[in-house]
Amino acid sequence: MRAAPSQEEVRRHNLGTLLRHVHLRGPTSRAELTASMGLNRSTIGALTADLVAAGLVTEEVPPAQGRAGRPSLVVRPLAERVYAYAFCLEVDRIVAARVGLGGVVLDRRELARPRGERPAPKVVAPFAEFVRDVEKGVPADAVCVGSAAAVSGMVRKEDGTVQLCEAGWVDTTFTAAVAEALSRTRGAVAPLEVRNAADLAALAEHSRGVAVDCDNVIYLYGDAGISGGVIAGGRPITGHGGHGGEVGHMVVNPQGRSCGCGSKGCWETEIGESALIRAAGRDGTGREAVLAVVDAAGRGDAMAQAALRQVGDWLGFGVANLVNIFNPELVIFGGTLRDVYLSSAAQVRGRLTRMVLVAARDHVRLRTPSLGDDAALLGAADLAFEGLLTDPLDSSANPP
Ligand SMILES: [Zn+2]
Repeated sequence: MRAAPSQEEVRRHNLGTLLRHVHLRGPTSRAELTASMGLNRSTIGALTADLVAAGLVTEEVPPAQGRAGRPSLVVRPLAERVYAYAFCLEVDRIVAARVGLGGVVLDRRELARPRGERPAPKVVAPFAEFVRDVEKGVPADAVCVGSAAAVSGMVRKEDGTVQLCEAGWVDTTFTAAVAEALSRTRGAVAPLEVRNAADLAALAEHSRGVAVDCDNVIYLYGDAGISGGVIAGGRPITGHGGHGGEVGHMVVNPQGRSCGCGSKGCWETEIGESALIRAAGRDGTGREAVLAVVDAAGRGDAMAQAALRQVGDWLGFGVANLVNIFNPELVIFGGTLRDVYLSSAAQVRGRLTRMVLVAARDHVRLRTPSLGDDAALLGAADLAFEGLLTDPLDSSANPP
């Protein structure tokens, strides 16, 4: 039998729970913390004092609310003092940000990226440049607690090796390249964590976005391909090597087109950007080309409307399968799938009505992301804060 946790272990666990609460929900009164954590007022007071002493939160008297009695102090994370670096490598852009405790974006830079660009050191160089520039303005008493990157590609869990879905950039030691680039900057950015962008976006929407309070969530993201993040029972499904949730390569049409992965008739060959653009009789790639089809359909272009109906039907086909497998409360459409879904919701819903088991169909809701295009970036920041949130007084994460 496992021994009961010691008083010290309980205290550390509670410190982490309290800090995570204000990190995700923002400034919170002691009274609300008392209620949500189920602890008594003096315990909350002692925990807060420890976090104040560690330089992680501050306590403030809230503005007068015209009520009698002493107001409950508000606990606020010290975003300016405790921060992490978050990086996002996508098919068409890269984003770097310095994010304060509480998920506050303090500095942010976004650059367009040519598709298929390589080698890795060239791709990641702007991350290091960003850190170098930003660090010049960071207050001397501020502390970086970690860094993480979201990559729109397949990320091997054990060593962060990245397989981009773009042709020709396979098995790149992305993690090593970023770590090497960052090692030449002043910021204490190690350790670097790397995860799939859709997985991190799903986690961010789950912990601070549209899927808060939903423990079964499917997040779909469209760019050049289709990626997905699945949360089941409150936990991300990553699979053995970190490649779980690659829903874009679920085969839906054995008579379909060849896919970049080597298979045929994958879902992304029917709903990805090139499928839509081709069906609309147009050229081009990227979000602008997708939005041009959506715009044209809105203005009455019959070919664009037919293309969206066709792609929407396949979108619903795949979502129906996923709903039958995972029984989610929420399906979220991110990236270009957001616009495709909004323009073809009737087709998507039609497929769900015909294909999904009644028991699973009743409560599933279809939504667009509430964190927008920065969901993966914020998910990366949360990942970088994870060590601190798990054990706020751990020496490796705690500011001196
Ligand atoms: Zn495929």
